[in-house]
Amino acid sequence: MPNQGGWKRWISVMVCWWLLLSGPAFGFVTDNALTNNTPNNFADDLQDAARWSNVPGSVLSNVRGLGEGLEYAIASDFCPQIIPLFQDRQPPTCNQIEKEIQSALDHWGENHTVLHFTPVTASLAAQIPPDGAREPWRGFGAEIDLFVRSPEDYPLVANFGAYTSFWFTNENPIGLQGQPVPGKTITSADIVFNNRSCYFWDTQAPIAGCNHFESLLIHEVGHALALDHPNEFPQRNFDTDQIPGNVMPIDCQQPTKALKLVSKIDAAAIMNSSLGEAAKPLPQLSPDDLGGRNFLYPLCQTVSSINLSGTGPNPWQLFGLLLVISFSGVFGIAAILQRLEKQRRKQRRK
Ligand SMILES: [Zn+2]
Repeated sequence: MPNQGGWKRWISVMVCWWLLLSGPAFGFVTDNALTNNTPNNFADDLQDAARWSNVPGSVLSNVRGLGEGLEYAIASDFCPQIIPLFQDRQPPTCNQIEKEIQSALDHWGENHTVLHFTPVTASLAAQIPPDGAREPWRGFGAEIDLFVRSPEDYPLVANFGAYTSFWFTNENPIGLQGQPVPGKTITSADIVFNNRSCYFWDTQAPIAGCNHFESLLIHEVGHALALDHPNEFPQRNFDTDQIPGNVMPIDCQQPTKALKLVSKIDAAAIMNSSLGEAAKPLPQLSPDDLGGRNFLYPLCQTVSSINLSGTGPNPWQLFGLLLVISFSGVFGIAAILQRLEKQRRKQRRK
């Protein structure tokens, strides 16, 4: 991998088709490039992890991070390139593909009030930094760019259904709690589909040897968030326990707490790379995929954020309620004092 002048590019890959197995759920793996030259010390993966910084602002103002959502641009030739590669009887329309891209991205924002994804295709052209760019993390396309390319144009995608790379700086990112956290700061990601590959749309009619588009894209977005393949790196796999298929609780203030290396991997994790016959795809995140997300982007659910959801009483209702309670209190106390005064007067008259 190139490493010049303090910048690095890391590339993650996805193989061409899926093999879905039932099995226990065990853990997540962070991107394997980030070992700090200590490949045998897997615990430091948690300190070296890359992530997007929680800074306000839009890529349209040249601010890169979680502010305004992770902003993505779809290459102008994406649809005409990829539609002929769908092998379904009824290939999707460009409109359906654009909606599916948003849907695939949104899987990673499930029940998360900060991590979300915003299209900026109308304002910003998708762009891959040219070879030799001095600062490839700055000013090239959106935060996440999506392309379809031939292996001749983009050799990294050869032999894969899609290929994701991201760029990062060595600065510590700002975490979800507003403080710097250990690790690298991701500034740009490119997801490239292979125009020599084939795809299918309908989960009910999988096509052997081809990729389920939405499942593949969900997987690639996981790479763009800095997750890697648990099945390729079981020795680097983290979990909080060895109970299959359960939710992985992540302490939002101390995300590494309770995490330990567990070499058994989740066969159903969308972050696995898979080789085998095409099976019915499952375009969703497993509890362990979500565990990885919640480790990188730990969210503390606060009372204020729950009230801001709009399901609770609004401020005027609360004010009215307080007013009623106050008047009740005043009149209640007045009534009690009045009764005591009457009793005193009665006693005096006796
Ligand atoms: Zn992959």
